[in-house]
Amino acid sequence: MTVLGVDCGGTNIKMALVKNNGDIAERALEPVNFRRPAARAIADIAGRILKFKSRMGLSRIPKIGMGIAGEVDSARGLVRFSPNLGWKNVPLKALLAKKLKSSIHIENDANCAAWGAFCLDSKRDCNNLICLTLGTGVGGGIILNKKLYTGSTGSAGEIGHMTIQHDGRRCGCGNRGCLESLVGAWGLIQTAKEGLRRGRAPILKKMLKEEKLSPKLIEAAARKNEPFSKKIWADAGECLGAALSNLANIFNPDRVVLCGGVSKAGSLLLKPALQALQMRAFETPVKAMKVTVSKYDEKLGVVGAALLTLE
Ligand SMILES: [Zn+2]
Repeated sequence: MTVLGVDCGGTNIKMALVKNNGDIAERALEPVNFRRPAARAIADIAGRILKFKSRMGLSRIPKIGMGIAGEVDSARGLVRFSPNLGWKNVPLKALLAKKLKSSIHIENDANCAAWGAFCLDSKRDCNNLICLTLGTGVGGGIILNKKLYTGSTGSAGEIGHMTIQHDGRRCGCGNRGCLESLVGAWGLIQTAKEGLRRGRAPILKKMLKEEKLSPKLIEAAARKNEPFSKKIWADAGECLGAALSNLANIFNPDRVVLCGGVSKAGSLLLKPALQALQMRAFETPVKAMKVTVSKYDEKLGVVGAALLTLE
């Protein structure tokens, strides 16, 4: 059986025909402008899906699993709130169903990534897995007893909005000191900008002449031994470690899988994170918890979205 997985990013959609073992038969990446009224963006998404269907020579559209950033009510097919897309109470499933004759399931994108990590990274070989998507923002998904945990209202898993510093920087959600504001790409860039303003990051400043400010550039400056850039990663790692220790103590998972652009910083982020985790959390859950960076980063969302429809 093949399912069409769709992962909606901020500027494009990833589509893939996914087999029930998680293998991808065909895939495509199409640009979609989300910065306009939701109904128009959704009509565009439907058009891209129809184009993919005819390019693949399919007689009909297979079952669709779609992941999207924001608070999603899967049962009603509603995107309740998506600060990234600027959507509020958008009936995504109904609007798509009008254009596409197919069964559609929508889910929060980080929940899809978690399901993807459960199926691909852990080969379903564990009971409890938590996935953290470290991108511009920080998303989370929780698998408990081999099932996606969505909470009472479908809102569970917002690990990026776990308060780490009660009086910290203001987050996009309105709260202060969320994990996302400290470890997400946006937060790292804000910290770097503060250092640049105070003249504390000369190596980074020099590199900015060639490339724009990004976690990748802060990583490069840290690898050139700039103290300020190294400290950005050490601090971010400690914040991530604090979050991991909360997860270890609360959920006692077998696995935590990290993915997303920021996770590419590797040991710069992971070493301080694992140190903080060991210092803060109870010994037994830490020993039982394996923290890894996903091998399947690019396809977790799209594969997870597709395979969730088979559950
Ligand atoms: Zn927040």
